[in-house]
Amino acid sequence: MRDDARLLVAGASYAGIHMAAAAREKGWTGLITVVGEEPWAPYERPPLSKTFLAKGEAPEDIALRGEVFYRRHGIDLVLGTRITDVDHAARVARLDNGSTLAYATLGLATGGTPRRLTVPGGDLGGVHYLATLDDALALRDALDGARDVVIVGAGFIGLELAATLTGLGRSVHVLEAGERVMGRVLTPTLSAVLAAVHESHGVRISTGTGCVAMEGSGGRVTGVRTTTGETLRADVVLVGIGSVPRTELARQAGAALAGPGGGVLVDATMRTSVPGVLAAGDCAAFVSSYAPTDVPLRLESVQNATDQGRVAGATAAGAEAIYNAVPWFWSDQYDLKLQLVGIHDPASREVARGTPDGEPFSLVHLDLENRVVAVDSVNSPADHVAARRLVAAREHLDPSLAQDAATPLKAAVATSPPAHRL
Ligand SMILES: Cc1cc2nc3c(=O)[nH]c(=O)nc-3n(C[C@H](O)[C@H](O)[C@H](O)COP(=O)(O)OP(=O)(O)OC[C@H]3O[C@@H](n4cnc5c(N)ncnc54)[C@H](O)[C@@H]3O)c2cc1C
Repeated sequence: MRDDARLLVAGASYAGIHMAAAAREKGWTGLITVVGEEPWAPYERPPLSKTFLAKGEAPEDIALRGEVFYRRHGIDLVLGTRITDVDHAARVARLDNGSTLAYATLGLATGGTPRRLTVPGGDLGGVHYLATLDDALALRDALDGARDVVIVGAGFIGLELAATLTGLGRSVHVLEAGERVMGRVLTPTLSAVLAAVHESHGVRISTGTGCVAMEGSGGRVTGVRTTTGETLRADVVLVGIGSVPRTELARQAGAALAGPGGGVLVDATMRTSVPGVLAAGDCAAFVSSYAPTDVPLRLESVQNATDQGRVAGATAAGAEAIYNAVPWFWSDQYDLKLQLVGIHDPASREVARGTPDGEPFSLVHLDLENRVVAVDSVNSPADHVAARRLVAAREHLDPSLAQDAATPLKAAVATSPPAHRL
């Protein structure tokens, strides 16, 4: 097989593996090489903040696919290796082991990297970030013998870690610079529900509070100095303040980015602005038909990386595919399963199904014409499953029927009067 008839994929995680597999399934006949910087065979990332720590799982327990899968799809995995440079005019990539790979099409599935907290003492031992399996292994070691944990950032990773570590008997204090927990993705109603659940498990949460410095002794962190002038004792500090897309290769290839720090711009076929370069997953920015504006956005979820990867693979193989999946996301905290469908519109209003302190509980977000734009559910798989269809179809829903938790969402839509009569 000719070396230059290669689909070269940068990044061996959800977007990269699904891109490679879909390309083969849709008829790519040349070589397919996936280069991944991490030394591990591709693995499931969500368990890292949950069962991998809580149950002490082994790396092989969270493998994304077995070896047979890669063999059957004719995918060469090159692991523990980073693509350092691409010369897209010559269609050649350079690897950090000094070798080069020629390619016909380049797929970027490089994900993101944790945003760093740049405060004095931020690089002391015992200060951790969680994005990779190696990070999770290092965190497990650090937790051995640790009692007090301070988590900086009450996003989904920070809160999942708070739940997991509380379950492991650690004393957890969460600092959040914003006004409320998970403020970027939840409305105040659900933020309050989550904060109350964490507090009932003994987690202390300080909102409107940031970290100004880490204190240490002998090179190890011992405390966190906050914007409110307190110093919190800490054996381990976990920082979860978001992620930054990895766009180095896209930049070298000349692909347009969605503004500073904004990801690689793609259209619905996952093509970038440069012919022969595709992108998918956490590193990609796109205009979502489910968002209230046409400002390109990035979604950081397994579903998005998988679906976009599959579309990019089909596009590489010359098949027709369009990405228009309804965004959805889940987070497990204690025995709560939080499932979010759609993208909130600040102009929409929310209708509660059930009471916030009971379960199951959902918030249905309706636009001005009473169309369903998003549904956030707590331990309500039935609402979640129905919501994926309702948001996709932008169904109209009578608010008074929506709030009747005894009526399944699906049935409430069927009996809602047409839009013009609402
Ligand atoms: C702890 C944790 C918990 C999560 N929990 C959930 C959850 O419950 N639900 C959910 O939907 N999502 C969850 N997510 C988010 C989800 O894991 C990501 O959205 C998803 O992994 C994105 O997939 P991706 O393939 O786009 O990128 P990534 O999974 O980030 O993979 C990108 C890969 O590319 C590699 N790479 C980058 N540059 C290069 C290069 N130049 N050469 C070679 N390799 C390169 C990186 O090393 C990395 O392995 C979680 C994430 C984390 C970190």
